[in-house]
Amino acid sequence: MPPDPILTHAYDPERFRASAHQLVDLLADELAANLSATQSQSLPWQTPQQSEAFWRDLATQAPSIMDIARTVLQRSVRISDPRFIGHQICTPIPDAILAGFLTDFVNNGSGVYEMGMAGVAMERWIMDQVAQRLDLPETAAGVMTSGGTLGNLTALLCARSVKSPTDVWKSGTSGQLAIMVSEQSHYCVRRAAGIMGWGESGIITVPCNDRFSMSTDQLPELYQQATGRGITVIGVVGSACGTSTGAFDDLNAIASFCRHHDLWFHVDGAHGAALAFSDVHKGKLAGIEHADSVVIDFHKMLMTPVLASAVLFRRGLDGFRTFCQQADYLFAESNDANWDDLAQRTFECTKTMMAVKFYTVLAGGGPGLLAANVDRLMAMTGELVREIQRRPAFELAVQPQCNIVCFRHRHRSAIDLNDWNNRLRQRIIHRGEYYLVQTKLHGQTWLRCTVTNPMTGPKEFVGMLDQIEQIATQID
Ligand SMILES: *Cc1c(COP(=O)(O)O)cnc(C)c1O
Repeated sequence: MPPDPILTHAYDPERFRASAHQLVDLLADELAANLSATQSQSLPWQTPQQSEAFWRDLATQAPSIMDIARTVLQRSVRISDPRFIGHQICTPIPDAILAGFLTDFVNNGSGVYEMGMAGVAMERWIMDQVAQRLDLPETAAGVMTSGGTLGNLTALLCARSVKSPTDVWKSGTSGQLAIMVSEQSHYCVRRAAGIMGWGESGIITVPCNDRFSMSTDQLPELYQQATGRGITVIGVVGSACGTSTGAFDDLNAIASFCRHHDLWFHVDGAHGAALAFSDVHKGKLAGIEHADSVVIDFHKMLMTPVLASAVLFRRGLDGFRTFCQQADYLFAESNDANWDDLAQRTFECTKTMMAVKFYTVLAGGGPGLLAANVDRLMAMTGELVREIQRRPAFELAVQPQCNIVCFRHRHRSAIDLNDWNNRLRQRIIHRGEYYLVQTKLHGQTWLRCTVTNPMTGPKEFVGMLDQIEQIATQID
């Protein structure tokens, strides 16, 4: 009995060929329009209610893939528009987008070698390349994860397995375990401690200095206080860089503190470890080579579509201890053994073939491509800073260290600047030409830009700041 025609229609290769050609033409036109900023908006803002009603209604009309494609484009943030200067997500290069299309076709999982030979082997090569860039020793190895959040949790689970006084997978934890992190660390680090059941005492918050980097001189005293309260501190997380302001922690200082107290040293480099690909900027990561584990996102500054991240371990075999303390049988063997046994080291069971996307960027574009991108984003961030400083109506929260800029508009009279900047941003968002976000620093609201599109430059910065000044006079 042949399959139901509804099934043969769904899988029809000729229909696939025709739609795919149409879709690629649509996307190439969209890319051209976005890159040249000729569309009226980078953010075609809709309220959640409008969006929901729209998609509910379209669903009743049996939309074709082209109907869906056209409307998704019309109703999504245009990441490749240079006026998108908001979140940390990159403009992916077209080759990497095609790699995503390809991997959706191949649809092999990457949890087990046998089920995803290409992806798993590529992942191994990528880990070697990244470890070299980070100056980690030859023993280093890691796995790709669906995002930095999952990477950080994986690293901290590993830290717990290695440093906990008990065998956590057999008998659970005993006593109060904790890690030390700066007040500026990404919320996913706190969440990881919560997931591990450590409660609020599981996080020892280290204050920041006026540059929003961890005040590492406070580590010894906070550590003594914690141990005095009976808490077992197992590690310290350094941010490279922090999410809100892009501030880098002093990784060498954290490394030597960890060495002294035999603590796990984890670097959350989700955003900034990308600087390792630039010879000009990699100095900001000094000390990362001492880390026990590092997380890096390829989808933030490294031109790869979401999600593509990795967690690397200084001693690759530590990765096997993440989900099992008793990995001793492995330690007799060389680091090369069992590299293909990804499932033992990753959280995910069925895992996307994300390696193909970053392989396409790194092997296809060569390290020169990533260096050019990082250098360009950093240079343009400098341009934005100069443009802000040139205008008396604006102030910077802090001198940026990465491609993230926090600033605000100063109202002439003594009104609530938090409320004022919040209102300004709402206006900008609703207009939709420029897209920027906002953040809170010490209770104050700041406008926040991340320069992630290499096509963004002075023209966009001038246009955006002009628009803010113009809106300010209108709602005054
Ligand atoms: C973005 C970010 C994360 C979270 O990574 P996802 O890939 O969004 O899960 C964690 N830490 C820092 C410092 C980040 O910038």
